[in-house]
Amino acid sequence: MKTTTIDSCAISECAFNNNGCSAVAVTIAGKANDASCGTFIALNEHGGLPVAHATIGACQRVECVHNHQLLCDAAAIDVNAKADCSLYRVA
Ligand code: SF4
Repeated sequence: MKTTTIDSCAISECAFNNNGCSAVAVTIAGKANDASCGTFIALNEHGGLPVAHATIGACQRVECVHNHQLLCDAAAIDVNAKADCSLYRVA
């Protein structure tokens, strides 16, 4: 099974951001025209793995051209400072 990696995350206040996303897998959630990271949480502590190596475990944005069966078929995405998926695109 192919996995989608998270190449970078620009949300410095997220507890999972440790020079990149260190969650094991994130869920992309949000709503139409706003594909945001559902794993983002602002805390005064760090969570996740010791190193950044996150993948996308699920994506709820079924309208995205990269979405197949609630999974992402892109090789990698970036998460921007608004916690949005960089590759979200509706046909
Ligand atoms: S590119 Fe599309 S399918 Fe992949 S994570 Fe982003 S919004 Fe979901």
